[in-house]
Amino acid sequence: MAKVSHINIAGLDIELTSKPGLKNIYLRVKPPEGIISVSAPSGVSLELINEFISHNITSINQAREKLLSQPQESSSKQEYISGRKFYLWGKPYILDVRESQGKSYSVKFTGESIILTVPEISTHENCERALNELYRSELKRVLPDVIKTCSNRVGVQVNSFSVRNMKTCWGTCHIRKKHIVINLQLANKPPECLEYVVVHELVHLLEKNHTKRFHALVSKNFPDAICERRVKNLLAENQL
Ligand SMILES: [Zn+2]
Repeated sequence: MAKVSHINIAGLDIELTSKPGLKNIYLRVKPPEGIISVSAPSGVSLELINEFISHNITSINQAREKLLSQPQESSSKQEYISGRKFYLWGKPYILDVRESQGKSYSVKFTGESIILTVPEISTHENCERALNELYRSELKRVLPDVIKTCSNRVGVQVNSFSVRNMKTCWGTCHIRKKHIVINLQLANKPPECLEYVVVHELVHLLEKNHTKRFHALVSKNFPDAICERRVKNLLAENQL
């Protein structure tokens, strides 16, 4: 059974979890408070843990500083711990966090879970980035077909598209360049949300502003009114 205790090394409060069966010592700086959490095989001497902390002290301090200098978001901020639910195309997947041997972060999804492999010292920011990369590649995979279908429906063509992590909008349209930008966070919504945003951006090629005509054109090209209302609600959840 795992045993949790608190120890103080070099003035740092450390949450130590001793687990039988562990082969190595693992360390994580946990958001939001920057708690230093060490997992070690049962029976490992304090001396060895001391040495491990001293060896990693620079990285620990850097990770904590970075974490504590970030704006503190409310509890709505997702923590990257096993068991948490993450969504891909509107379907829930259970996050399975695993330790990697190197320094890299990787992510892949299976039938039911998203496996996030992280180094011994992981940061929230890097976990988020790894997951965003998964979302980005998913969008790049599906967007050419979605854009093609929607373009045919709306009767316009774009020259190019890009995928970006945006904080304030789901998509944008550069009318002159005929280029649309899609927010990668759409990969966690059901596919119809992406389709709706693509239609919205394409309609901008016909009507620059959000006029009555604009909304009428969107509804015409996204004909299912019930679905449109549902999509709007889903998109409003994130309050972009
Ligand atoms: Zn718009």
